[in-house]
Amino acid sequence: MQNIVDSIYQEMRSRTDRGKVANYIPQLACVDPNQFALTVVTPEGKVYSAGCADTLFSIQSISKVFTLTMALGKLGDALWARVGREPSGDPFNSIVQLEHESGIPRNPFINAGAIAIADAIMGHNEPKESLAEILHFVRFVANDESISIDEKVAQSEMMTGSRNASLAHFMASFERLENPVEKVLGTYFHHCSISMTTEQLAKAGLFLVSNGTNQSTGSRVVPEHRARRINSLMLMCGHYDGSGEFAYRVGLPGKSGVGGGILAIAPGKASIAVWSPGLDKIGNSKLGTEALEMLVHETGWSIFGH
Ligand code: GLU
Repeated sequence: MQNIVDSIYQEMRSRTDRGKVANYIPQLACVDPNQFALTVVTPEGKVYSAGCADTLFSIQSISKVFTLTMALGKLGDALWARVGREPSGDPFNSIVQLEHESGIPRNPFINAGAIAIADAIMGHNEPKESLAEILHFVRFVANDESISIDEKVAQSEMMTGSRNASLAHFMASFERLENPVEKVLGTYFHHCSISMTTEQLAKAGLFLVSNGTNQSTGSRVVPEHRARRINSLMLMCGHYDGSGEFAYRVGLPGKSGVGGGILAIAPGKASIAVWSPGLDKIGNSKLGTEALEMLVHETGWSIFGH
């Protein structure tokens, strides 16, 4: 496995077309695009890494996997009255469907859906309390107490987040949010601003590899059926309007973020985190996707067969 990971890293190092770093969040625009990291963790916790696997990056929308998991834990199936579970086929920050669908977002991973999830997690708590809870959960699944939020990224998103604010106000106009828009956005922007390394992120995904249990720590995180369903949502909706393309090329449940990270789950086999800040036109890591394509080719891990 280490040879495979190393050879993917060598191949990616030589690539010149690395995509474009997200620039709508100023703090992300200044990240060096020439970075790459890949980590594969087996169910027992064996780690294979290459590149800058201990460099922190902004996990952005990958945090939505963890907030969805928490919201399902709190609300169970009642959550599905507030957000759907169909692929959107629209960009991550699109407002178009929301009007047709009366303020109920298509799925938990598009921005509107993740804002609805943040609202659901909050209950009647303040953003500070909810964020403490989210961080606690992420640290628990990653088995790493050092994980934290990059306040500079959060502030940067807040200052430029008009689109997300529009989505939230639009949902509020349909009376779909229980908390004030500003508080929900504060929670949302901050959880998107969690920083992790590929090693921490791959470890955090382990519970989705082994039917809800992190085998390396022995902790059950979610029941079996829930892990299966989270994986299915990642497969269908984890890459926005590039989800079909990702399923076609990689064939694994995955969630991307505009920071250039991707968490991919090979059920029963491994949790994989890859990071390269340059994005394709849709907003998914360009080299990250290519690296996963290579990994699946080498390992035969696609859920659709060799
Ligand atoms: N915080 C980002 C936003 O709301 C998340 C987008 C992403 O990672 O896809 O725009």
